[in-house]
Amino acid sequence: MVAPGNGLKVLVCGASIAGPTVGYWLTEYGFDVEIVERSSEVRGGGYPIDLRGSAMDVAERMGMSEALREAHLDIGKLTLFDGQGETVLSVNPEQFSGGSRGHDVEVPRGDLAKLLYDRTRDRCTYYFNDHVIALNDRGGEVEVEFASGRRGCYAYVIGADGLHSATRQFIFGDEAAFIRHLGFFFVGFTLPNDFGLDREQQVFSTVGRMAGLSSVRGRERITALLTMALDAMPTSDERDPDVQRERFRALFSQDKWHIPRLLEALDQADDLYLDTVSQIRMPSWSKGRIALVGDAAYAPSFVTGQGSSLALIGAYVLAGELSRHAEDPQAAFAAYDAEYRPFAEANQNLVGKGWQFIPADVESERQRNERLRSSGLPAAPAEQKRAIHNGIKIKDYHADS
Ligand SMILES: Cc1cc2nc3c(=O)[nH]c(=O)nc-3n(C[C@H](O)[C@H](O)[C@H](O)COP(=O)(O)OP(=O)(O)OC[C@H]3O[C@@H](n4cnc5c(N)ncnc54)[C@H](O)[C@@H]3O)c2cc1C
Repeated sequence: MVAPGNGLKVLVCGASIAGPTVGYWLTEYGFDVEIVERSSEVRGGGYPIDLRGSAMDVAERMGMSEALREAHLDIGKLTLFDGQGETVLSVNPEQFSGGSRGHDVEVPRGDLAKLLYDRTRDRCTYYFNDHVIALNDRGGEVEVEFASGRRGCYAYVIGADGLHSATRQFIFGDEAAFIRHLGFFFVGFTLPNDFGLDREQQVFSTVGRMAGLSSVRGRERITALLTMALDAMPTSDERDPDVQRERFRALFSQDKWHIPRLLEALDQADDLYLDTVSQIRMPSWSKGRIALVGDAAYAPSFVTGQGSSLALIGAYVLAGELSRHAEDPQAAFAAYDAEYRPFAEANQNLVGKGWQFIPADVESERQRNERLRSSGLPAAPAEQKRAIHNGIKIKDYHADS
């Protein structure tokens, strides 16, 4: 058990979802938390993200349920279109995602990050526009050097710095050993909502490519996501936004539906977010006094829709186990792993459940569309997903401390 104000200093790298959440709970248990964020402010934007199942229990314990319900996008209709732009199927999104209407929420990613920042700005010390350039775990403490020239010593360092985590790179080396490329590359951006969409998602999916539109209730803009099948990880040159714009333009050039309008918007967008669709799979999430949380440790990819839920719950569990074993990093991180790994991996394994995301060839597209048109969406995958979203019991670490 840890007394309030235990005086142990923790450095958290990254101020998006996992970082502020772990900061919130560590300060709740008496740790002294600094959060360093590479950007100049909490990053806004991003595609709508979901908080489902057990993640809502953590949100409730943080007093965020009401604000999340207010921000909830409440998307009521999801329509799949084929390569000719013809409707294949129109469903309630929960029939596909396994979400629970009335319990789960879908909010713009930036709104969730902002909400978490507001919950923690008075209890954690934030440093924006800075990042770690050297970490030295001396056994009893970790010495840290920052790009700004600051230095510090911490009892623990937590990497909550996302899919391409620099903290992970410091302690475990190159990401190539841990990143699992799922065979897709995506670009997300926003554009004016001149489609008349209201609380609606539309997906155009055909051989090798897919485009998604998501309306954001009460807003004038909508988010777009273009995705292409890609066998190999792109090289760093290929990650250049201009190179990718050109690739997407070429791939979708013959398509109808809303594609010409989307390609025009892609050219004009100044808020592009592009990356491979990848997971992080690691045999261990910690070394010495340094641990990883959220996408840095177990990114599931947006195909699962569980990235933010995993980040939120993982941060809660990590902080809880640190509060139980505050002086014993090995015990704390082993307990974090034991408690969380089955849930994290079950959620990562959600990839591929549901309709075929991007058909590999003309015949599989034809079969998928025919099956969905004649029989609709089977109920079993959504039920399995729902069970997995709820597959961890949120412990009450307060009661133990
Ligand atoms: C701007 C943005 C847009 C996104 N859009 C989508 C999307 O469209 N679809 C989707 O499925 N997922 C998206 N994601 C990812 C999704 O939000 C994650 O699954 C989820 O947010 C996991 O949260 P996280 O806190 O672990 O990591 P992230 O949300 O990735 O946050 C990592 C944070 O660490 C910061 N950071 C990075 N490197 C360092 C460093 N060296 N030092 C300090 N800070 C650092 C980043 O600026 C960021 O604030 C997006 C993430 C971001 C940051």
